[in-house]
Amino acid sequence: MSAFHTLDTADLKGKRVLVRVDLNVPMDNGKVTDATRIERILPTLREITQKGGKVILLAHFGRPKNGPDEANSLKPVAAALAEALGHPVAFASDCIGAPAQEAIAKMLEGDVLLLENTRFHKGEEKNDSALVAELAALGDVYVNDAFSAAHRAHASTEGLAHKLPAFAGRTMQAEIEALSKALENPERPVAAVVGGAKISSKLELLGNLTKKVDYLIIGGGMANTFLAAQGKAVGKSLCEKDLFDTAREIMGNAQANGCTIVLPVDVVVAQEFKAHAPSKTVGVDEVGEADMILDAGPRSVAAVEAILGAVKTLVWNGPFGAFEMEPFDAATNEVAQAAAKLTQQGKLLSVAGGGDTVAALNHAGAAEGFTYVSTAGGAFLEWLEGKVLPGVEALRAR
Ligand code: AMP
Repeated sequence: MSAFHTLDTADLKGKRVLVRVDLNVPMDNGKVTDATRIERILPTLREITQKGGKVILLAHFGRPKNGPDEANSLKPVAAALAEALGHPVAFASDCIGAPAQEAIAKMLEGDVLLLENTRFHKGEEKNDSALVAELAALGDVYVNDAFSAAHRAHASTEGLAHKLPAFAGRTMQAEIEALSKALENPERPVAAVVGGAKISSKLELLGNLTKKVDYLIIGGGMANTFLAAQGKAVGKSLCEKDLFDTAREIMGNAQANGCTIVLPVDVVVAQEFKAHAPSKTVGVDEVGEADMILDAGPRSVAAVEAILGAVKTLVWNGPFGAFEMEPFDAATNEVAQAAAKLTQQGKLLSVAGGGDTVAALNHAGAAEGFTYVSTAGGAFLEWLEGKVLPGVEALRAR
């Protein structure tokens, strides 16, 4: 983390600390239904309040189109945050102007204030310099703890970092450290598991990983396209016929880069896409015309587990099969549990995230056993694609 300033070196006592957080939590009828994102920012908020800073929270919520609207107000989140923090959280009805200025003027050391949805101002997503200046005038210090919003160069995620002394919050720091250990400076050999429905949504990710990892283990529906591109019959399976050339190109690039692509050797097939549909395990050369591949088979799982036993680092995105439907969750469950076990034994550094991955690992009961599970979604995927994340870059020590 030497390239970033962290809270270790921040002088916070008596300072107005603008903290960009992710409070884009799922809500139902004004109630937060999953507080994971709130939980993740608590260490940063507690540390700043304990050091005598005044915590002024900036966050977006939803995708408001035309300025303020009640459905996208952060007000109900203030109550949920206060409960989780065990500390009152004040709320200001605008993130700039008189409501924000007056609420901040009343703050004492250790107080916490949540400002209304930054996206109620069009300038937020445009990274507009006038909005950045108005926000910057509200604080003395900027802390970004929203890795999940770091792939967007918005006023509160990027612009502000250039106007105030800027620091990574503890969640941002943990995320950057975990991701760096997994792909920037990993202990080798490194394996990546990439599963999920389609390769069309993961082309850049696959391209980048073939340059960085020693084993690229492909699962899920996307493996079907690779198998079919090798001339195998995949019956009625999910398969992107227009991407056979692309799949072959990815395999060629991998070979040129010394990256071994690992595809299933056996698969679980059914004739209906539904839970408990009658199914059987067949070799990848034995898929019938009416068959749908819905999971990897036990020989494939054993081959993947052997690789995991031989590598030092694992990056994981996407399930091995249609994991939401039993029994097609078996390969995802078994490989995830094996990775968690190796991690707990100190033999593997494992980092997972993006899309359905967190749900798949939770379903497998394996998420807790991984070194790090990112809840960042889009930002995690862009990082796997090798892209520069503007919100992270802006925090680099200058
Ligand atoms: P993604 O969002 O690309 O990570 O894809 C996740 C989705 O892929 C999950 O909903 C899985 O059910 C689905 N999936 C995985 N394997 C298959 C498969 N063999 N056939 C159809 N869908 C699959």
